[in-house]
Amino acid sequence: MRIITIANQKGGVGKTTTAINLATALAAIGKRTLLVDLDPQGNASTGLGIEKDDREVSSYDVLMETASITEAAMPTAVPNLSVVASTLDLLGLEMEIAGATGRAYRLRDALHFHQVEAPLFDFVLVDCPPSLNLLTINAMAAADSILVPLQCEFFALEGLSQLLQTVEQVRDSLNPTLDLHGIVLTMYDGRNNLAAQVVRDVRAYMGEHVYDTIIPRNVRVSEAPSFGKPAILYDMKCSGSQAYIRLASEIIQRERKLVAA
Ligand code: ADP
Ligand code: MG
Repeated sequence: MRIITIANQKGGVGKTTTAINLATALAAIGKRTLLVDLDPQGNASTGLGIEKDDREVSSYDVLMETASITEAAMPTAVPNLSVVASTLDLLGLEMEIAGATGRAYRLRDALHFHQVEAPLFDFVLVDCPPSLNLLTINAMAAADSILVPLQCEFFALEGLSQLLQTVEQVRDSLNPTLDLHGIVLTMYDGRNNLAAQVVRDVRAYMGEHVYDTIIPRNVRVSEAPSFGKPAILYDMKCSGSQAYIRLASEIIQRERKLVAA
């Protein structure tokens, strides 16, 4: 079971879109996949068609240790893809477990228990809120690796060093084997010269860490969540869906190299 956390403390960079579509693409090639929604906004849950009223057991319950992953995981319309949905209850979590020892390890412990008890998943993707709070720290402490979406815009690199510093801190304290899986450039607009410059800058700065696959800006991708569907189900042929399918195969290839190394 590989656990990949999708994080960037900036909002609107494509974390949730990447989580939903990467999870769908992995499921489509037969990988048993779980998406854990750790954003109180619950956009990943909504985008996978999980109604708010149906979220009886959620990621909040998992982090409060009142439910297991198996109890919280709900099936989606995508075969092989389950989701642990989120609710606004997550907003209060930080206060509720502020004094508890091991509070940064709540997700790791739940996933570890799941793996020992009933390993139902090949991949677990965790969608983070747009901040470096206890929820994101839980997601980083639980992960094998981090995947960072960066939007192709002028301030793309701004904030990246803070994020990488946090990854470094988590490695030093909570999770020594945490690895930077890669950086995916999102919402690329080929008609925009600036976007091409951003791609060059990010590649120059981050080198091999940047995936070859670039996700284009694509209206079908942004429409899909309002139908409660991943873009890959809504319109598999659109350029955005095709890019996420390529990203999934690139990730599988990197995983194979990691296993071989
Ligand atoms: P985050 O989770 O980082 O806040 P989202 O994935 O929710 O970011 O994306 C922010 C907004 O951008 C959403 O409205 C989403 O539909 C839109 N979006 C994301 N990726 C694309 C894309 N490739 N093409 C067009 N719109 C996109
Ligand atoms: Mg989001």
